[in-house]
Amino acid sequence: MAKGKINVAVDNIFPLIKRFLYSDHEIFLRELISNATDATLKLKHLASIGEFKGKTDGVQLEVKLDKDAKTLTIIDQGIGMTKDEVKKYINEIAFSGAEEFLEKYKDDKAGDAGIIGHFGLGFYSAFMVAKEVEIITKSYKEEAAVHWKCDGSPEFTLVKSDKKDRGTEIVLHIADDSEEFLEESKIRELLTKYNKFMPIPIKFGTKEIADPKHTPKTTKDKDGKETTEEQKRITVDNIINNPNPAWTKQPKDLKDEDYNSFYKELYPMQFQDPLFNIHLNVDYPFNLTGILYFPKLEANIDVKKDRIQLYQNQVFVTDNVEGIVPDFLQMLRGVIDSPDIPLNVSRSYLQADGAVKKIASYITKKVGDKMHSIFKKDRANFEKKWNDIKIVIEYGMLSEPKFYDKAVKFALFPTVDDAFLTFDELVEKIKPAQTDKDKNIVVLYASDKKEQHSYIEAAKDKGYEVLLLDSPIVSHLIQKLESENSELSDKKQPIKFVRVDSDTVENLIKKDETTISKLSDDEQEKLKGIIEGVVPNEKYTVQLEAMDSKANPFTITQPEFMRRMKEMQQSGGGGGMMGMGNFPEMYNLVVNTNNEWMQKILKAKGKQQDYINQALDLAKLSQNLLKGEELTGFIKRSLEMMK
Ligand code: ADP
Repeated sequence: MAKGKINVAVDNIFPLIKRFLYSDHEIFLRELISNATDATLKLKHLASIGEFKGKTDGVQLEVKLDKDAKTLTIIDQGIGMTKDEVKKYINEIAFSGAEEFLEKYKDDKAGDAGIIGHFGLGFYSAFMVAKEVEIITKSYKEEAAVHWKCDGSPEFTLVKSDKKDRGTEIVLHIADDSEEFLEESKIRELLTKYNKFMPIPIKFGTKEIADPKHTPKTTKDKDGKETTEEQKRITVDNIINNPNPAWTKQPKDLKDEDYNSFYKELYPMQFQDPLFNIHLNVDYPFNLTGILYFPKLEANIDVKKDRIQLYQNQVFVTDNVEGIVPDFLQMLRGVIDSPDIPLNVSRSYLQADGAVKKIASYITKKVGDKMHSIFKKDRANFEKKWNDIKIVIEYGMLSEPKFYDKAVKFALFPTVDDAFLTFDELVEKIKPAQTDKDKNIVVLYASDKKEQHSYIEAAKDKGYEVLLLDSPIVSHLIQKLESENSELSDKKQPIKFVRVDSDTVENLIKKDETTISKLSDDEQEKLKGIIEGVVPNEKYTVQLEAMDSKANPFTITQPEFMRRMKEMQQSGGGGGMMGMGNFPEMYNLVVNTNNEWMQKILKAKGKQQDYINQALDLAKLSQNLLKGEELTGFIKRSLEMMK
């Protein structure tokens, strides 16, 4: 029997490993399965180049639990290790890695479970949950099998073994404080979390299925009554993973159904089909594959659930992609797989990693290109789904300048009549009728078709196009579009956005023509005084306008600037007027001096207050602002006036 002492400076490194990695104990299983998978893939590679002559089809991994013996065993049929290899890879390399690791982080009390993989501690993570570990291994090379055993002290034993088949068995004698890893449900949970898409089939237990070779016989008795024999069932290996997930295949080999069924495989609790999928597939300047999905966003969506999953060669790394994937894409779902993603590092390390940064900018670009090509290929479908994806696109346009440049070509601007225009189409279309006297192109929009109905109708009557922009971040996007198309940009004509209810229709787009007022200056002065004496002036600024005589007597408007700043402040984010305090709820009360009602107000004796309130209530009513007591008062007054 060979005994040896591993050459490390620290006397007993295992308690240290254990304490250090406390928060992430469960990753030991992922580490061991990764090793087993690597060993199997290596064997397949050797077979492919003719250096291994045996059979490799059907090779699989197996995870076995023995509750009585308190062991968890990981078995592979890979290349195995010779005695010298165990000495070299397990005793020397791994331990020097461990030593380096401890040297570097011994003063770090944070317990950041980061760095293990980088130091070849993978195998030794077994000691986080095991009090003793055995390796029984037989190399594919013609050599006797060996049996290595270590109880967590730097001492190990290495003896011959009578193992007959090629491959490696790692036996973990689970420590008393880690008995949760003897629970079948726990192991199944970990295998599903980390190894669901590993490239080699992993067997965990058995299950019963209907015997495919047996068709139950149906017989008739003399009364013609049918009885069917019981279906025979057989026990088969329970393979817990899908070794060939969709993202590892070629896009040309996949149909929409395949993408959708993979989505369900990733997120078994999702019942809605995704809206779009984006298959990522690059091998230069780095390797990356994956599939991203635009989910149908529900009102009460929990973005923390069912997130994008990050894989390294089909091994699950994390589903916390904050700082790795640009913010706006975190609303998507799916998988990103790259061998360049470091496996065992902390989040902060991952975020700072150069490869990871390149990946983020590649994904942003790719999503932009792909959405553009989907838009061009099937615009009708894209329009249909626009309302479900606009938040993601608009957020991306606001937060990633590179994405803005791409998305401005396919982002859609729906009109109140359900036409969908791109920004360029919109500008072309409205330019003739909606250019104001200062050569600004004025885009009119509404945020609520019902509430702003009268304003929308007034604008449409004038031949204007009205957009329906109702997403919560639209004020930020408008601000962005204006600054991209301002006098300062090299655009020929500056573009301004104005909500339909921010002024009277005459003033929304100021043209040169002026309407003459039917009232003299004196009369106007007088009228203004009377109205200001009646309406609450902490809420309304009275403003006289000579408008079409058929237009409403009073109109309540809220200036675009005030309202937009307020909205931006409420929805947060940059671009708002931070620190300006809360905006007061102020409106303009636009008085149409050409409406006949003004004559009545001027001439009325004693009824002025009623006439003004009547016109004010009508203005409120058209904006759905008249409620409760005010509404009751309005009805009473109206009935009174009808007498
Ligand atoms: P890493 O996997 O990062 O190299 P490990 O400590 O996990 O570090 O493993 C050290 C080495 O031991 C591996 O590189 C491999 O050569 C060998 N090894 C570990 N597990 C197996 C296995 N199941 N079959 C064959 N070789 C293995």
